[in-house]
Amino acid sequence: MQPVPLISDIDAAERALWLARFAELMPELDIRPSEQINDADARTARVAIVANPAPEQLRRFPALRWVQSLWAGVEKMVQMPELARVPIVRMEDPELARIMAEAVLTWVLCLHRELPEYARQQRERIWHQRLYTPPAEREIGVLGTGNLGMAAIAALKAQGFRVSAWSRAAKQIDGVSHYAGEEQLPLLLARCDIVVVLLPLTPQTRGLLNEQRLTLLRPDASLINFARAAIVDYDALLRQLDRGALRHAVLDVFDTEPLPASSPLWQHPAVTVLPHVSGPTDIGSASLIVRDNLRRYFDHGEIPAAVDYARGY
Ligand code: NAP
Repeated sequence: MQPVPLISDIDAAERALWLARFAELMPELDIRPSEQINDADARTARVAIVANPAPEQLRRFPALRWVQSLWAGVEKMVQMPELARVPIVRMEDPELARIMAEAVLTWVLCLHRELPEYARQQRERIWHQRLYTPPAEREIGVLGTGNLGMAAIAALKAQGFRVSAWSRAAKQIDGVSHYAGEEQLPLLLARCDIVVVLLPLTPQTRGLLNEQRLTLLRPDASLINFARAAIVDYDALLRQLDRGALRHAVLDVFDTEPLPASSPLWQHPAVTVLPHVSGPTDIGSASLIVRDNLRRYFDHGEIPAAVDYARGY
């Protein structure tokens, strides 16, 4: 049995959890850390499981026909010459989408019920009852209508919020105002109370929410970024928050993680910093998806739907 490499930079404890789960679910396969596979086996391996793979490890596996990513975001891998456009199968897990939708709903509800303002009032010992706004009068804009965006939209609609959404291609989503393409993005930004970013990082989305687009948001609007930091210009965002031209930002993703102690984001009263926890991969459900994909390949030669290198997602 030819070993299947796990090429990853995940720490030893988490790696042990994945490997134990794989051994339980796929006793017929010999799944091992790539460092434990000899050069002869490495040269002929046809499939690998990957999570932030190191380029020098990938170079040892020149015959890969496809790779299964443990993560949903693949922006670094699509740029790697070592993969030479080998099909990348992303983690597409309904449980991950549920977890992310739960995070979106949690933080939208916090902003909707004005938790940051009540926290500030408490610090200043101010007893002030703010006017209640029903969800049907709040518009939430979701950027990205993929696996995660659609799950978030369903959760927001079920809670009674007005929802608008934006993606590349025109789309009909029941009960949602949909906008497509860069020319329609300003229309969404100008009307929403809360904008939630659930886009992949690609050359087109890098710097998408720049200073000019952030100024289109209403002064009482808030931003939630649960996707990738580079999609939003955080310096411009801070300037908007400082000027009172935006209400609050909930940020889960940063260019450098962990966020350096010197970052002004930590201390800003209108920023909530989260340590990249909005959509953690669930090892239990994700490993079942890996098992099903590997079995279909080894039993029937089927390679699951892969990332489109030209689009970058
Ligand atoms: P996905 O299924 O590939 O969906 C991507 C969506 O973004 C699609 O609706 C797509 O539009 C839209 N899009 C892409 N490029 C666009 C552009 N230039 N203009 C407008 N819309 C564009 O991705 P997903 O599974 O929902 O995941 C989204 C991202 O979430 C991942 O790439 C990852 O970076 C991030 N993520 C974060 C965490 C976390 O813990 N913070 C966890 C998991 C994932 P079309 O529908 O028109 O193609």
